[in-house]
Amino acid sequence: MRKLVYGLLVFMFMLTLGFAANAKVTFVTIGTGGVTGVYYPTGGAISKMVNAKFKQYHIKMTVESTGGSVYNINAVLSGDLDFGICQSDREYEAWNGLAEWKNRGPQKNLRSVFGLYNESITLVARADAGINSVYDLKGKRVNLGNPGSGQLQNAKDILKAFGISLSDIHPEYVKAVETPGLLQDGRIDAFFYTVGHPNGAIKEATSGRIKVKIIPITGKPVEELLKTHLYYAKSEIPVKKFYPMAANKKDVVWTIGVKALVVTSKNEPDKVVYAITKEVFDHLDQFKKLHPAFATLTKKNMLEGMTAPIHPGALKYYKESGLIKYIPKKLIQQ
Ligand code: GLU
Repeated sequence: MRKLVYGLLVFMFMLTLGFAANAKVTFVTIGTGGVTGVYYPTGGAISKMVNAKFKQYHIKMTVESTGGSVYNINAVLSGDLDFGICQSDREYEAWNGLAEWKNRGPQKNLRSVFGLYNESITLVARADAGINSVYDLKGKRVNLGNPGSGQLQNAKDILKAFGISLSDIHPEYVKAVETPGLLQDGRIDAFFYTVGHPNGAIKEATSGRIKVKIIPITGKPVEELLKTHLYYAKSEIPVKKFYPMAANKKDVVWTIGVKALVVTSKNEPDKVVYAITKEVFDHLDQFKKLHPAFATLTKKNMLEGMTAPIHPGALKYYKESGLIKYIPKKLIQQ
């Protein structure tokens, strides 16, 4: 009998210990994009850095494949996701209540964590479709991007800048992950994808049976667009280096682009945001090895391109590391 009571006590003690250990675990999610983009492996890279320190932070981060920037911003705001990766132009619009957020107004609970690599507005076409510039998209079947993606608005901006209306083309709204197959099957002539390079989708699109090329987005309409939309900057895609099977003749293709950012909500606990920021910045060399699109990252350029205020958890890290000097005053809330 005594043995039984003793055994029971030990069992209950272990159970309590188990509960205590479990209760400490904080599960966090990060919303990314399609699996053939760069957001998805980026979410994986961030999670890897944080989960490696499980003993210290008790954080378990998991990656979700999603529809992209707009979806991620909305899911972070509704609390469905803890973190999201999004384009700097979409963050600007959400914070200021523009475009997608026009009816709902400024999204003042949105917070920036840090910036990442550049994303280029990438126009990919079948080489035999007779498309050499944006103007040639007239009359073609063009995928603009799924609702929820970041590229949908970029595609609309580009078409508008070139004086092309939606009725001048046959628009499609499918996810980027499906576009290489559709292009190879001849079901679309071209697609827009705002994405870092290199990425799986464009590797897939350019290495099929049908020849495919990346179309430059340059000229007077682009110069005008750069004057009115300050978040756009010129960017080059090293097409020969990253996509040797593409039908392009030149080594690089010029276009414009934005920046990929990590965002969260005001309601996210400081200690979680702090841990993620610290692990990525303190081990940046290690982080940069996790994807070729991270090659040009520096602690300084990772603090550029943000619109929403910096989350206090991230700010704590920027203060103690001295990086605060790179942060524009308007991003620091009193
Ligand atoms: N920029 C795209 C978007 O916002 C996603 C790109 C990616 O998944 O790498 O939807």
